[in-house]
Amino acid sequence: MNSVPYVGRFAPSPTGPLHVGSLVAAVASFLDARAAGGRWLVRMEDLDRPRCEPGAADTILRQLETYGLHWDGTVLYQSQRDDAYAAALDALKARGAVYPCACTRSQLAQAPRNDEGEILYPGTCRNGLPPGAIARAWRVRVPDVSTRFHDRIHGDLEQNLAHDVGDFIVKRADGPFAYQLAVVVDDAFQTITHVVRGADLLWNTPRQIHLQTLLGLPTPVYAHVPLVTNAAGQKLSKQTLAPTLPESGRGAVLAQALVVLGHPPPPELNDAAPAELLAWAGAHWRIENVPLRPAIANAAP
Ligand code: GLU
Repeated sequence: MNSVPYVGRFAPSPTGPLHVGSLVAAVASFLDARAAGGRWLVRMEDLDRPRCEPGAADTILRQLETYGLHWDGTVLYQSQRDDAYAAALDALKARGAVYPCACTRSQLAQAPRNDEGEILYPGTCRNGLPPGAIARAWRVRVPDVSTRFHDRIHGDLEQNLAHDVGDFIVKRADGPFAYQLAVVVDDAFQTITHVVRGADLLWNTPRQIHLQTLLGLPTPVYAHVPLVTNAAGQKLSKQTLAPTLPESGRGAVLAQALVVLGHPPPPELNDAAPAELLAWAGAHWRIENVPLRPAIANAAP
């Protein structure tokens, strides 16, 4: 018998209401938890206050409920967790694992970028701030070794953080703690054993494992589910004007999410309500049937 109980989570950023792409991540993490007899928690990643849309967190919670995705326990809000992130940053400072960085965006404009288009930090402040420079952000030193990890959908992967990412930010120049630090602190705080999330975050995993190692936190099991794109191949998001989940015809939208996840419901469930579809999908859930490739969203219903 498995001695560690399964705890999963869905961690949306409340920058707007859910769309079918975020529904796919919610449904996948929900089904994986329920199929394992586990708990499923919700965490609002409202760290980046200027990017959060007023009311979006409540809208997301209402959308989850109307789609039959009922969570356990209380919702954790990252906007209320600064003390925990500050304590983690202090622990990293005490280990000499982080350093202050004075580089501005414009100074880094010419820096090389990785395959994801992120700046590969050239290490300007790694050995001390240039004279007269003012510390703006905090970066964590990354090792020049391969970080190996296993993803339940993508298999065995590895990344050299020094080559592919560089020393990355844990506290931003404009104030907030960075997603990478917050996610690691909160996954541990919420005793998350299994992370199931969108494939856009796959290559964030080695950064998170590095922080977990430095902070002495456990590493959850990871699975990254396919993204949903628009016809132009762009990830559905607020920026790409993804339509919000409809209030009516929820069964059809949920069925579409299940198709993306490689679990097409049988024809007799064509007109089924969310609860019935989720019950079917939970009973048939097999993560090995989830495809690797992104899906293109159906035209708006
Ligand atoms: N808040 C992130 C997002 O909405 C997800 C973070 C995670 O699942 O680790 O993309």
